[in-house]
Amino acid sequence: MIRIDGSFGEGGGQIVRTSLALSLVTGKPFTIDHIRAGRDKPGLMRQHLAAVNAAAEIGHAEVSGNHLGSRRVTFEPGKIRSGRFHFTIGSAGSCTLVLQTVLPALLQAQGPSELILEGGTHNPHAPPYDFLAECFLPLLNRMGTHITTALERSGFYPAGGGKFQVSIQPARRLAPLELIGRGPIRSKLARAVVAGLPLSIAQRELSVVAERLKWGSEALVAADCMNAKGPGNVLTVEIVSDAVTEVMSAFGQRGVSAEKVARDAVRQVREYLQYDLPVGRYLADQLLLPLAMAGKGRFRTLTPTRHTQTNIEIIKRFLDVDIRLSQFADHQWEIAIIC
Ligand code: AMP
Repeated sequence: MIRIDGSFGEGGGQIVRTSLALSLVTGKPFTIDHIRAGRDKPGLMRQHLAAVNAAAEIGHAEVSGNHLGSRRVTFEPGKIRSGRFHFTIGSAGSCTLVLQTVLPALLQAQGPSELILEGGTHNPHAPPYDFLAECFLPLLNRMGTHITTALERSGFYPAGGGKFQVSIQPARRLAPLELIGRGPIRSKLARAVVAGLPLSIAQRELSVVAERLKWGSEALVAADCMNAKGPGNVLTVEIVSDAVTEVMSAFGQRGVSAEKVARDAVRQVREYLQYDLPVGRYLADQLLLPLAMAGKGRFRTLTPTRHTQTNIEIIKRFLDVDIRLSQFADHQWEIAIIC
């Protein structure tokens, strides 16, 4: 039984999700204590509980401690099953984070899977659907899987009610991936979306992007998302280069001006474009797991975040891999996974 300290490092939900994902992949049982001790409201929240239960369903697992607020979970996986799954995350809990939990096991399952996820698709502090669809899943497909996804309805915090499908054709073995230089930028697009709010909010955000990044109107799109359940606003910025498509995002919030939301996105874009690095901050912590499953890979990124550092330590508890971090210039790092 692997024992995980949930208060370690970042001390958030990622420790729970990575442990669940790799327990399913390796068949190794684990116990996690002090769940999300580093957060204001520690313990399992609805979306983490949904992740535990989704993992249990896919892995025929014996679980204890799977209730709201729980600070300790024990998880003993059985045989992975592929097939059709429908996961509903109550409230606006993030669907993409539940997918992050079960996807690794389904990438190497015996057969294909079809998932329907319902809940939040565009939540602060979680990968927005666009990041998943344009950035993360295409990279997995380069590693040998065939994954497609379709968004039926966006779900914003706090109303939720979003829905998307994912079809997964697994790969018997994931191929290594190397992302070293970014190469020339092929295209860029800032997309400001509102749901149940005036379109002028999206237009104000795009004005800031246009002015600060000097982008022309061909790179700016404002959209009204008609079928969302509750109000919401997200500004996503997609940068397509030879190596990768990266997606940065900033979320509208009550009491935060559209201009401030846009300045946050602009800051992220500038930070990303400052160096010839293909992998952004969020992608870095999320790429580690598939690359560790492949047993080999390397990428260049900005200074590793606490999420990245924490994820590395949790991965090493389940998989026999060496993950090396080396700084090769100011703020520029290479992360290599070696079997
Ligand atoms: P935690 O805070 O432990 O629940 O983990 C949050 C996860 O969401 C990490 O894997 C982050 O990389 C990911 N994440 C947070 N914000 C974004 C974003 N704007 N774009 C992509 N991924 C994100």
